[in-house]
Amino acid sequence: MNAFSDYPFDERIRRAIDDLGFTKPTPIQSQTIEPIAEGRDVIGIAQTGTGKTAAFVLPMLHRHVQRDPDAENEGPRILILSPTRELAAQVEDSIRELAAHVDFRVALLLGGVPYGKQLQALKDRPDAIVATPGRLIDHLQQKNTHLRGLEVFILDEADRMLDMGFMPAIHQIISFLGKGKRQTLMFSATFPDPIARLAARLLNDPVRVDVSPPVRTPEKIRQGAFYIEKVRKPKLIRELLSLPNMTSVMVFCGMKVEADFIYDVLASDGFKVGVLHSDRGQKERTRALESFRNGEYPILIATDIAARGLDIKDVSHVINYDLPNNFEDYVHRVGRTARAEADGEALSFVTPGDLLTFQKIEAELGRPIERFDFEGVTMPWTGSAPAASPAASPAAGGGRRGRR
Ligand code: AMP
Repeated sequence: MNAFSDYPFDERIRRAIDDLGFTKPTPIQSQTIEPIAEGRDVIGIAQTGTGKTAAFVLPMLHRHVQRDPDAENEGPRILILSPTRELAAQVEDSIRELAAHVDFRVALLLGGVPYGKQLQALKDRPDAIVATPGRLIDHLQQKNTHLRGLEVFILDEADRMLDMGFMPAIHQIISFLGKGKRQTLMFSATFPDPIARLAARLLNDPVRVDVSPPVRTPEKIRQGAFYIEKVRKPKLIRELLSLPNMTSVMVFCGMKVEADFIYDVLASDGFKVGVLHSDRGQKERTRALESFRNGEYPILIATDIAARGLDIKDVSHVINYDLPNNFEDYVHRVGRTARAEADGEALSFVTPGDLLTFQKIEAELGRPIERFDFEGVTMPWTGSAPAASPAASPAAGGGRRGRR
């Protein structure tokens, strides 16, 4: 399928595609929409940002509109499991947009928010449930809903579910599924062994589509690093965030306490800043995300888990306040910027204790990360770090930052 017009979508679905301004299918969409619509099981190796949500939502809606409108639901027919509340909410948004002209009911079941609205949504006999694992299990155990009539089971961001320790929860949810024939779709950015085993157990003769990019970070992202003592990091972050071109910045921290600490430092300095991590209440997380998206707060402090997969446009800079401890997370964080054909810059703070990890990340990246100095704040790069690359000058420019 090379164009949306190649597929006989119902006019109401086509209209929604047009409303959203989607002119042609993304690679994951052109390879999966047809097999999914035919009822095949599918493994999609794809990151967020590839259009994978519409890849499963469009065929799901296509099949929905072909059903007998008087047919009753024997419980929800479609289940989409997401690892984080933000991702689940994002999936639900996509469904609502694509189902704008179709009568399709969705219940969003998230932890950290009251049960009332969710109970009502379940009473309204939803066609689909979008849920995070813990809250779904609560509802199943309390018999607020059941999965006996489930026709399609979609596991989104399966690798992140694994990282977050959701495997036992997923197995528990599987034990609630009916015995009947079912279609299973699994999307994952990577495909480690435990995910492969789960797929082997759950999926039947799946079509496998891999759209993971061969070059793992977009060329358009300029990547630089500062060599710095841990205690000097708050000073450097303040200096960098004061530069005029830091218009929309995601700051990544390794731990929640660190994220809170930096948030306090910056907020008390008068920076407009939000914070996103899993100990913050859902209302607060939603507000932080919305304020960042609409530009009210140009700075968002986040931990990996809370920020995984979020689709935020126009992030000018990513700052690794704490260097991630592996390449996967580095790529993932850095990929928050330079989305949708825009330019972006990613800057990492590297402490002496991080040097080894930094070199490993650079080796996997396959190209050097520029070494930057910030006069009076950072340390000179030591001999144990490879020499600086003579690449482009830093996008942040200005200030007292210079390239070695
Ligand atoms: P996803 O990978 O599903 O999180 O989607 C990432 C972004 O791509 C979302 O903002 C979608 O609205 C957008 N998107 C999905 N499909 C298309 C398409 N065919 N053309 C343009 N944008 C799209």
